[in-house]
Amino acid sequence: VPATLYREGGALRIATATGTIHWPIASLRVISRPGVLPLRLAPDEGDARLDVADRAAADVIAALLSGSTARRRTRSRAVRRLAAIVVGIVLLVAGAVAGWPFVADAIARVLPVSVEQNLGQAVDEKLFGETRRCDAEAGVAALDTLRRKLEPHAGAAMPLSVTVLDSPAVNAAAMPGGRIVIFKGLLREALSAEEVAGVLAHEMGHAAARHSLRGLMRGLGLSAIGALLGGPGGLGEYAAILATLSHTRAFEREADARAAAILAGAGIGTQGLIDFFARMEARQGDRSGVLSYVASHPPSGERRAALTPTQATAPLTLGEWQALREICAS
Ligand SMILES: [Zn+2]
Repeated sequence: VPATLYREGGALRIATATGTIHWPIASLRVISRPGVLPLRLAPDEGDARLDVADRAAADVIAALLSGSTARRRTRSRAVRRLAAIVVGIVLLVAGAVAGWPFVADAIARVLPVSVEQNLGQAVDEKLFGETRRCDAEAGVAALDTLRRKLEPHAGAAMPLSVTVLDSPAVNAAAMPGGRIVIFKGLLREALSAEEVAGVLAHEMGHAAARHSLRGLMRGLGLSAIGALLGGPGGLGEYAAILATLSHTRAFEREADARAAAILAGAGIGTQGLIDFFARMEARQGDRSGVLSYVASHPPSGERRAALTPTQATAPLTLGEWQALREICAS
C-alpha cells in the first residue's frame, strides 16, 4: 500500500488511502541491511512493515531515528562496515537515552569480538601510534611468561596482548579488544614482579569485562565511536582516552576482584598489588597529567582493604624480572 509520511512530534504519521496510523519513532526498528534500499522499518509490536524506496526519504528517516543528520565519511571498507553496524545499533536504541548505561552495556554484551578488536586497533593507533613499543628480546620473553601465567584465568572472550610503551608515565591501561599496555615508568616504579603481575591482572580484569568498550559507549555514546573511527583528533580521541585510562569506581572494584581471582588461579599472591596500591595512595597528590596511574585508577584504602593478602611463589625468576625492567633498553 503506498503511503505518505509525516513527522508529528515523537511519532511517524503514515497516511494511506485507507487510513492513518501513528508509529512512535522510539518504537521503530530498521530491519533492512544498513545502506541498502528499500529502508525497511518495523514497530516493536505487530507485523506491519514500512519500506522506504526513495533514497532521500530513507536518509531523512534514518537521521530521524538516529537523532542525527551527520553522516561520517569513513576511511576503509572495514571501517565502513563497522560504522554501518554502529549506525544500525544507534537506530536500534534511539530514544533509549534515559536508560543509557544499561543500554550501552547491553550493546557491549552483544557486540561481536571482532568489532571490539577493530575498535581497539583504532584506539591504539590514535593514542599510542607515535609511542615506541619496547622490544628487548629477553624482556619480551619475560613479559610473555607473565602473560601466559595470568591469561588463562582471566576468562576473556578474546586473546589478550600485552606490550610495554616507552613512556615515563607510571601507568597501565586496557584498551578495547584485549590490548593491554604497561608504561615503562610503571616497570621502574614497581619493586617486584609480583607488583607488575598484580597490575597486569587488574588490567586483564578490565579487558575481560570489556570495561573500555563499555566506557566508550556509556561516556559519549556511539557517536564517539564514529568520531573515533572517522578522523583525527576531536571528540573520538577524547572519548578513547577517558574510556581507556579511567573507569568508574564500580569498574575498578570489579577489576580488583577479577585481579584477585586471576592471581589466585595463577598461584601468584595479591601482596604485590596491595603494596603497589599502598605506594600509589601515598602519591595521591601527584596527579601529573592524564597519564598518571593515580589519576586514572584513584587508589583508596577501601580498594586495598577489599583485597585479601596472599603470598605465593614469585611469578618470575630474578633474571626474568631484571630482563622485564630492561625491556626498553634496546
Ligand atoms: Zn583500573
